[in-house]
Amino acid sequence: MKNNILFLLLLLFATSLYSQRQSPLGGNNALTGIISDWGPRIMAQGDGSRFHMGFDYPRAANEFAVTVEAGSITYLSPAARTDHLENIVVNGWRYLHCLFGLSADELYELRLDAQNRPVLIIRSNPTTISHVYVQADYPLPTYEDINVEKTVGIGQNIFRPNTWNHLHLDRGYQVWVSPFSLLPRTDTQSPANTFSLKHNNNGTATEFPVNTPVYGNIIIESEVDYENEKDLDNVILQLGINNTFSEIFAWRYTGGNHMILTNLSNGTSNTPAYNIRQTGLLANIRTSVDEGVFPRTTPGLDVFKYIFNSKQTDPTSTLASGLRYPDGEYTFRVTATDLGGNSNPQNLVKTFDNLRPYIRKVEIRRNTANGDELYTGEWRWSGTALTLSQQSPRAATENDDIWVKITTSEPMTSLSLGVLAYASTPEAGSGNKVRLSKTYL
Ligand SMILES: [Zn+2]
Repeated sequence: MKNNILFLLLLLFATSLYSQRQSPLGGNNALTGIISDWGPRIMAQGDGSRFHMGFDYPRAANEFAVTVEAGSITYLSPAARTDHLENIVVNGWRYLHCLFGLSADELYELRLDAQNRPVLIIRSNPTTISHVYVQADYPLPTYEDINVEKTVGIGQNIFRPNTWNHLHLDRGYQVWVSPFSLLPRTDTQSPANTFSLKHNNNGTATEFPVNTPVYGNIIIESEVDYENEKDLDNVILQLGINNTFSEIFAWRYTGGNHMILTNLSNGTSNTPAYNIRQTGLLANIRTSVDEGVFPRTTPGLDVFKYIFNSKQTDPTSTLASGLRYPDGEYTFRVTATDLGGNSNPQNLVKTFDNLRPYIRKVEIRRNTANGDELYTGEWRWSGTALTLSQQSPRAATENDDIWVKITTSEPMTSLSLGVLAYASTPEAGSGNKVRLSKTYL
């Protein structure tokens, strides 16, 4: 019984969070038919914002949309036909692309009154005004026989779209809060994401072969499908070793640590991976070596590319090479998360092989490991070049065995030893003889 009461309380609490809000299309969970969602987008005409900070929902001409929350009208856009920014702000919600009218024959007008102040007029028929809404800061204009209001209720019909036949809802310009996160809706579907690791193959992004090591500049490419709910919130790249994961990059669409675009309108950033790229055929996106976001409209499959360098150095590295990531097995993880927190992380296990091996030392001795030194060569790697220092204090005779020890710069899977040439002073009655008795790898 206690559990039932607790459950009931939780249910009441969860309901009350959103009980004072609803979909702009009416009721709860009615946000179907979003025609442009929150996040990077490319307009077909090449104009419009590259990062769309709100969502667009359709309304037919003359069809009203409704307030998602009750509250005061705090702003009515100064009417301007040209920029399509006519908007009404109610309790922090901004409804954009509202119908604007100057003539008296419209059922709905967002217009200037005689004192040049914006007012919103709704007529019950072409000749009878039923409501006049005014911005709260303004003194009430005098209208006879009509309701003059500066607050509206939830679900009230005070919006109609302009000739674009859609309205745009947001929480204000450059406020990184998606309206979706504040509205009641059922959200159960995770964004689907698949990813691959590619390299720049003469200007073409080419996938590393399966079961081979990866190294150098690795293009982490993620294709995220969130078409059904249109509510993608972030894509996070992580790298793990021994089950400890750390973030290597993230595209975050909301919140304080959101992606930074230096120019929202053309989608450019100081961080190349945030750049919003023009899109075309999916096949062309897949072969592109550019970093960035490739937003697509139909079908809704966005592609994200980030160039990760497995050879990056790190001043705190304990490796002689200074590399941050020693050769070994790593797990790449890509997680795409929607506004409701749903995600379905994907993993790829790969081996890093960053270093080309080299012979560090060759020792040659007479007969045994403790025999006279015949030759020692040492190669030192400066990071750019190998330098050899060597000495050869004595020569072997034809009756000696040769003991050879080879030291490599890293563990090897194979190493072969061959004799390419030899020099000798022929003696009568004896052939030239090379005997290799032992090798130590
Ligand atoms: Zn919009």
